[in-house]
Amino acid sequence: MSYLLDELNPQQQEAVRTTEGPILIVAGAGTGKTRTLSYRLAYLLAEKKVPASAVMAVTFTNKAAHEMKERIKRLVGTRLEALTVGTFHAISSRLLRQFISPLGWTSDFGIYGQREELSLLKRILSHYPQCKQSPASLRKKISEAKNQLIAPEQLDSAAGPYFPEIYQEYQTRLRENNALDLDDLILSLVRLWQERPQVLEECQDRFLYLMVDEYQDINLAQYQWVQQLSKKYRNLCVIGDADQAIYAFRGANIQNFLDFQKDYPEAKVVRLEQNYRSTKTILEVAGKVIQKTSQRLEKELWTENEEGARIWVCPVWDERAEAKGIVHEIEKMIGGSSFWSIDSRRINSGEERAYCFSDFAVLYRLNAQKDVIAEAFTSAGIPYQVVGGTRLVDQEEVADMLAYLKVINNPEDSVSLLQILNKPAWSIGLPEWVQTITALEGLAESEHISLYQAISQVLAEEPTLTEFRSQGNLSLSQRKAIRKFASLLEQLKAAGADLKAEALVRKVLTETNPEGKNTEESEPLLELLAMATPFNRYPPATSLKMFLEEIALVGETDTFDERANAVALMTLHAAKGLEFPVVFICGVEAGLIPYIKSVSSSEFRVPSLDGPDSQSLMPPSTEEERRLFYVGLTRAQKHLYLFHARQRYLYGQKQVQQPSPFLADIPGHLTQQLDIPSRKAKKAEPKEEQLTLW
Ligand code: ATP
Ligand code: MG
Repeated sequence: MSYLLDELNPQQQEAVRTTEGPILIVAGAGTGKTRTLSYRLAYLLAEKKVPASAVMAVTFTNKAAHEMKERIKRLVGTRLEALTVGTFHAISSRLLRQFISPLGWTSDFGIYGQREELSLLKRILSHYPQCKQSPASLRKKISEAKNQLIAPEQLDSAAGPYFPEIYQEYQTRLRENNALDLDDLILSLVRLWQERPQVLEECQDRFLYLMVDEYQDINLAQYQWVQQLSKKYRNLCVIGDADQAIYAFRGANIQNFLDFQKDYPEAKVVRLEQNYRSTKTILEVAGKVIQKTSQRLEKELWTENEEGARIWVCPVWDERAEAKGIVHEIEKMIGGSSFWSIDSRRINSGEERAYCFSDFAVLYRLNAQKDVIAEAFTSAGIPYQVVGGTRLVDQEEVADMLAYLKVINNPEDSVSLLQILNKPAWSIGLPEWVQTITALEGLAESEHISLYQAISQVLAEEPTLTEFRSQGNLSLSQRKAIRKFASLLEQLKAAGADLKAEALVRKVLTETNPEGKNTEESEPLLELLAMATPFNRYPPATSLKMFLEEIALVGETDTFDERANAVALMTLHAAKGLEFPVVFICGVEAGLIPYIKSVSSSEFRVPSLDGPDSQSLMPPSTEEERRLFYVGLTRAQKHLYLFHARQRYLYGQKQVQQPSPFLADIPGHLTQQLDIPSRKAKKAEPKEEQLTLW
């Protein structure tokens, strides 16, 4: 028997050994799905001698992809450059760089993030003064349409006033800028495969074995992507847990997963039911909560792990008491003589170690909840890392730096060029400079050229011919300012040909920061520099391209550093796939868990693509909220704390809160109450009343 099978249970072994044909691995939380996937991949390489280039594994995050590659390297013993493991976005981007030209983009297309998309939409909206929608809501609608594979030309006015035109214009401008947005990465590849069967076949013949983790959360575009790529050889292995489908609000459709056996009637189905992660108690609690959802592939989870402590239910006065309670418990476990078993399989062997900060995770429904906890940690001296929330690329100085790098890489990228044009006053007054930019933009639009070309055109004209076609005159000082700007650009472009990403970031910093402000003080820029360092192994131009690609694809949870000895703070969504010895879930209150806005808000509607009054509401999202809570519960290995407050500062005001209705599904004998003393609570609330909550 292969050494790779030794560390797996019989069902996992079966999943690993079934290498040919379609296979569905239906498994609950913590049953080793992701682990089995890695072993299956390693088995294909080591035992079946399949070349690394013929295998593809799709993961939900870049971080998961990185971990999988590391694990496979350990299992197989060699570095496998040819292996394709990544997110849908990352893999699509790589393939598009090779094949995209028939669609009208060149292989060094840029990838736009939220900032650029909004900026583009803002410019388009300036031509539609009657349109009352915000750039953010249009962006969301466009994304939803793309996830449903709906092109602008398939829409009519029923999709909303001006929406088809704006969507169309948005696509045109993306192409003019040689850029794609994130959704386009997947959509474009699906289109390309549909339009060019020979490209599809080349990809099919390359990737003979395909595996997809977290399959319950794929949307229609991703579903088509997988279907097309796998339909020739049908060696498709999908892994998922219907109980953990939490992305319907982003267009994911659990039905794709539930219908797998219809798509592939010959598929083998393997069920993994042994949980290796949590105590019996935690597993039972989670089971009681999830029992009430309807769209399930019925499965029974069990574990050989210890019974474990009852889970803590912690009623508190407000969010401050909640934070205090968490600090108190962490200090108790770190400082006291508490230990936890290192390995759940050896739970009775008495092998133990003391808790460290990275053993704890604090999970919440909304990012806004983290501030109070972070503050409490800071004053208690507890190290923590916030995962997700504000992303590096959203920090002003990083966004500016990236705009420079993008223009160096692709001067035709008018959106990024506009961002840097909008920054410094080029030795003329601000109003005059704004006027200059407007004139340049006007020229670019009327001539159908990029901003960069507009700049070149202005500078190429004789000084006496300062008249722009329809945009009035530019003064001599304005032309001088443009010239100054253009010469900086040329200088940076030249540097781009010689320098690798990290050195280039430093060069841009010195050149654009004439006052010599100490940039070393900027944390976000230092972080960006650190991210650039690994790209020093590539030659100059490639180094920049690879770096920009990596930055564009950074996901919310990719910043999580497992090796840091710090408590992890993140949303329930971001915690998917992770595990921690001790988990605190905050705000287990009606309105937060389940999140009420998500039940009624229009943001959870599919865009009104099929008419404003169509039945386009998502399936009742309380079910999805219940699954999200289940995801949170099943992250815990040893101890689980559920906090709920009587009042909470939310949406700018104090709100009176009730415990989450989901708590009522947890039998009392599995819980114990933790009372967090709070001066205010004692004064204002008699203890009996707190207890009546239970
Ligand atoms: P989730 O549903 O949360 O994504 P999962 O099903 O992907 O979970 P993994 O993360 O792969 O589960 O595994 C959960 C834990 O159980 C990990 O710590 C893993 O190492 C451990 N585990 C899984 N299978 C085994 C096994 N056969 N023997 C020992 N430990 C195992
Ligand atoms: Mg997993």
